[in-house]
Amino acid sequence: EDLDVNAYSLDSLLSRLTSCRAELDLVNQGGNILKNKIFVLGSFNVDIVAKLERFPQVGETLHSQNYKIGAGGKGANQAYAAAKVGARVTFMTKIGKDQFSHFAKAHLASTEIDSTIIVESDTSPTGNALIYVCEQSGENMIAVYSGANIEITQEEIQQAEQHIISSSLFLTQLENNIEAIKQAMMTAHKHKVKVVLNPAPYHENTPDLLEFVDLITPNETEASLMTGIEVTDLDSAKRAAEKIKLMGVNTVVITRGAKGALLYENGNFKEVEAIKCAVTDTTGAGDAFNGALVAQIAKGETLLDAARYANAYASLAVEREGAANMPDANLIAARL
Ligand code: ADP
Repeated sequence: EDLDVNAYSLDSLLSRLTSCRAELDLVNQGGNILKNKIFVLGSFNVDIVAKLERFPQVGETLHSQNYKIGAGGKGANQAYAAAKVGARVTFMTKIGKDQFSHFAKAHLASTEIDSTIIVESDTSPTGNALIYVCEQSGENMIAVYSGANIEITQEEIQQAEQHIISSSLFLTQLENNIEAIKQAMMTAHKHKVKVVLNPAPYHENTPDLLEFVDLITPNETEASLMTGIEVTDLDSAKRAAEKIKLMGVNTVVITRGAKGALLYENGNFKEVEAIKCAVTDTTGAGDAFNGALVAQIAKGETLLDAARYANAYASLAVEREGAANMPDANLIAARL
């Protein structure tokens, strides 16, 4: 391509050259690098969980029975799940420069995630969630602090551009700032990278993103909030899926907890029934499902086969405690 060199700053010339180089690499490798490669933009949180006999009153101090510090954040969990079932995953996240940032890096390095783009904020701490779990009732109280997760800048997204456009699939959720999410989605969409949005937790600006999304995966609550249709059963899930399609997304997967998942593609509904299993902790079920789903789609599986696989994987995940405690892929075959 001819460039008028004088019309560009040195920085923009360099970034243009880098992206040309990435595209050339793709051409040289016959596009093979694309297959199976997933880019996940998302959150990292440290979950600090204390188990209590009961919740404290205002001003009261209670002794907790035990506590755990675990890795969390929908982005990190979904990236981990996709990598665990065999996808080549690049995970981009933003953390602070604090004691939890070491924890974040150690956790991500211990997973099967192929490469990480960890941006560090000078001003905000690593995201965290303080969680009380009542031992008797299993109920919880959670205070989430988004911290660095919601401070991703345009420049940081731009710097990751060549990683995004050399992937076959882009996955994100709604735990980062919407401007960053939108910019990354637009980049992926423009370069024909399939965009998958897990719209969790629901954000009022979700409709602004939908024109860039190829596949959306709300749970029942998120589907209800998106559409105004209270999703409680199969019929209401179907109506919500049709409405989401009208809002601009071609393919819809509504996860329905212990009822499985509803798929809506090319005007056809398909159902995947949940697998009966010994449920221990459903936190992160959606993360396991989304990670496994996109890994299978990136491999070229049909939506139905990918959803069956994700459903089996999520059933293994709910048998384990902890949202980031992703099962091994070799356990899936027995459940399909
Ligand atoms: P989220 O965790 O995002 O709220 P869901 O509760 O819809 O998502 O669960 C996601 C998927 O996990 C379901 O579609 C299903 O495949 C699986 N799953 C969730 N709960 C159960 C369960 N009790 N038994 C078996 N599979 C489950």
